[in-house]
Amino acid sequence: MQSGQSAGCLERPILRERGQREVFCGLTGIIWLHRKIQDAFFLIVGSRTCAHLMQSAAGVMIFAEPRFGTAIMEEKDLAGLADANEELDKVVARLVERRPDIKLLFLVGSCPSEVIKLDLAKAAQRLSGTYAPDVRIFNYSGSGIETTFTEGEDACLASLVPSLPEAGEAAADQLLVVGALADVVEDQFTRLFEAMGIKNVNFLPARNAGSMPAVGPGTRFLLAQPFLTETARALTRRGAVHLPAPFPLGAQGTTAWLKAAAESFGVDHALFTEVTAAPKARAEKALTHYQEQLTGKSLFFFPDSQLEIPLARFLHAELGMVPLEVGTPFLNKALMAPELDALPDNVLVSEGQDVDKQLDRCHDQRPDITVCGLGLANPLEVEGLTTKWSIELVFTPIQGYEQAGDLAELFARPLVRRTRLEV
Ligand code: SF4
Repeated sequence: MQSGQSAGCLERPILRERGQREVFCGLTGIIWLHRKIQDAFFLIVGSRTCAHLMQSAAGVMIFAEPRFGTAIMEEKDLAGLADANEELDKVVARLVERRPDIKLLFLVGSCPSEVIKLDLAKAAQRLSGTYAPDVRIFNYSGSGIETTFTEGEDACLASLVPSLPEAGEAAADQLLVVGALADVVEDQFTRLFEAMGIKNVNFLPARNAGSMPAVGPGTRFLLAQPFLTETARALTRRGAVHLPAPFPLGAQGTTAWLKAAAESFGVDHALFTEVTAAPKARAEKALTHYQEQLTGKSLFFFPDSQLEIPLARFLHAELGMVPLEVGTPFLNKALMAPELDALPDNVLVSEGQDVDKQLDRCHDQRPDITVCGLGLANPLEVEGLTTKWSIELVFTPIQGYEQAGDLAELFARPLVRRTRLEV
């Protein structure tokens, strides 16, 4: 990894702000999670607002039978006049009868369910008594009061961890990759690990309820996504051991991530180099294509997905971009240490948000690209700033060698679009 003139994560000053924030709530994670776990259903216990958010964010077709829905709480529920638990039981009964394909049901809390203090943990327990083992029922919160954007996935995976089977002795040889990845990316990583001789590789979440991995003391896990603080804690409580690594973005990031596993599993250095040489060279070649457009361009990240720090590291180290401010909603210094070490000294790293103050800093610096949520993008574009929607970086497969070029293109495209508009 290129470390430049890094301050290291322990000495680096972090600007902490606690003011108004502009971030989606954790319900948004359902959009990619329902595609990933193919026999799961996400039942949001929420309001019409939650249903509208999900419908517009996921772009659901009217004919589709999506694997998420909203049990809408009406005014009488919110006023405490109806027994919301009884209503919920009826909705679940209808759902399970109509959709026998559902094997995993998540009750997802929202702002309204939290306001009336509906205990979804108890509801999940009660309903499990009726439907388990055919349908296993879990709960987590996606509410905007408690979670931002990608924390929904963290809460979902953390809710699964206590139920994962106990791994026996064989767990000492198991590598667990944690965080929802596109199937194609998982397949690429599996092939690379296999070629290195690491055979027992599992993913959390698995593609279906029946193949969720076992976990236990001796399981070693790599995080594929940076926003999984609670899931990492839950796995550690089960005895699993975290392998610290940068995240697998770009040629260098992917190599360092794979290397963390290779070193832990005793893979011979020569074999590691042989296995990674060709895909790494392909990734580097793909990145070269974008260097002319991106090198020297400045970047400003508003906090949104928690991918900001690894992305800034990749764009700086592998494409020569110049990060000015890197905002993140939360900073887990332990998980982020290898990434922070690779950022240059003069980058402002900020945690949390006071959106007006941050907008002032952005206006002052006038970056070439601003990475932000949908709510800020349009006003900034009107002011002549080029923006990149951070949500796109979560929906698109960007991890691994073969996706490095696509990731660079996501940043080159808005610059090209702006140039065309100006011609
Ligand atoms: S959970 Fe809260 S923030 Fe999210 S859509 Fe529902 S009401 Fe809005």
